[in-house]
Amino acid sequence: SENRVWEEPKRSWFSFSAHTPVAARIPELCGGEASRGGEKEKKSGVSANTWGLLWTILVHVGFLTEESGDVFSPKVLKGGPLGEMVQWADILTALYVLGQNLKISVSVKELQGFLGVPPGRGSCPLTGPLPFDLIYTDYHGLQQMKQHMGLSLKKHKCHIRVIDTFGTEPAYNHEEYATLHGYRTNWGYWNLNTRQYMTMFPHTPDNSFMGFVAEELNNTEKHNIRENKVKNMAVVYGKEASMWKGKEKFLEILHRYMEVHGTVYYETQRPPEVPAFVKNHGLLPQQDLQQLLRKAKLFIGFGFPYEGPAPLEAIANGCIFLQPKFQPPHSSLNHEFFRGKPTSREDFCGPEAWSFPANMSVVRSRRMFMREDNSGLISWAVNSTAPPCWPPITALRLTVSAEGQSCVDACRSYDLVCEPAFFRFINVQCEVVEFEMNHVFPAFSTMVRECGLQKEPLLFSCAGFDPKYRRVCPCRDFRKGQVALCRDCL
Ligand code: UDP
Repeated sequence: SENRVWEEPKRSWFSFSAHTPVAARIPELCGGEASRGGEKEKKSGVSANTWGLLWTILVHVGFLTEESGDVFSPKVLKGGPLGEMVQWADILTALYVLGQNLKISVSVKELQGFLGVPPGRGSCPLTGPLPFDLIYTDYHGLQQMKQHMGLSLKKHKCHIRVIDTFGTEPAYNHEEYATLHGYRTNWGYWNLNTRQYMTMFPHTPDNSFMGFVAEELNNTEKHNIRENKVKNMAVVYGKEASMWKGKEKFLEILHRYMEVHGTVYYETQRPPEVPAFVKNHGLLPQQDLQQLLRKAKLFIGFGFPYEGPAPLEAIANGCIFLQPKFQPPHSSLNHEFFRGKPTSREDFCGPEAWSFPANMSVVRSRRMFMREDNSGLISWAVNSTAPPCWPPITALRLTVSAEGQSCVDACRSYDLVCEPAFFRFINVQCEVVEFEMNHVFPAFSTMVRECGLQKEPLLFSCAGFDPKYRRVCPCRDFRKGQVALCRDCL
């Protein structure tokens, strides 16, 4: 069934196809297996972890329910959260194509029906087994499940996967630690395994990178698109009029050189924020947007939205994507949009984007992620008695970060990726001085010559950093274009 996805012409699964089976069976969850109580395993004698088995999966789209405050659903046909909609469509398609037994709910009533909890407002523990092998939901859905399943949610939580566009870092996920150390936000502290959060972009390997589907063109199509490009045509990334506010000067300059197109949603009147010289198409059916991008040379961001599927679609259709770079970068600590999001990360800018400072004075600066020098890597002898691990422990490359540097950045500087599954192996290589809950441990402080080990496995964090500590980081190599797999993983 995997081939059915991989051979699908013209669609490139931006992480999704190969990663879904891996992410769905996070090995240490549910006592080493992801099926319901191992019933199938006993009956068939086949490992229930094998993706080949038919699973019963509930997809509960929490943010579309009336009960989530009705913020999102009325916007769906009006340019609403399209990126999130793309992700949900991709999940449903992938699970369907893989032949899984799917149930979908977009209301609390349906959720209660599927879970077998009596309808009504109060919480009611689930007495029997969970009727699903896996439940894909989001933070809204998680809250609704807690409300209606009460304490029984805790027992079944290893079966849950949370579609979490922005990601959730370990320090925000651990309830006690988040409360004590100022990481408690509206969304976090569910004490899940952080691999259960599935993100739209590879923010931190602490979460599972799910991704989304973007077009991939064959050589003939690429050639045709190249021939038909209109050199002076630009499309703006910004579907809501508010995103265009205050950009008149910039647009005027751009208009001197380019024909400017937009896809801003409007009901009856053209939004005043969009200058008259802009050819506004309104919200377009996706196919028409693709056609527009095929003709355009430039796809221009105003800085907000920060990220979404559209820029990758534009690049896939042969556009150059320009997006402002913020100095200092925007994050939950300094910017309203990110406030309350369970992450400390600073605005993501993919290596495909040409970014320019937000004051727009310089138009050429490319963020370089990789460095050649490998001298900081520590050679690592694999203990032959180490417990089995995925990815294989042979892929481990141990490195030490600079003070204040996260393991995500330390690994990236050696062209490697941080692998949270390896933390448990490197946490025992130090003469113990401190053994406590700290989301940057294992780490050492050169100033006071102290070494700190992690006491709480849920706090192992690729993303964490602290100016007082140099972190010990478990990196690994990866396959270009498929970061979920190491070079020797297949
Ligand atoms: N899209 C569309 N018509 C439009 C604008 C966008 O079909 O007029 C699609 C686009 O192809 C992409 C999705 O909406 O797949 C999400 O776009 P965006 O990156 O703007 O995400 P959002 O900001 O909505 O999360």
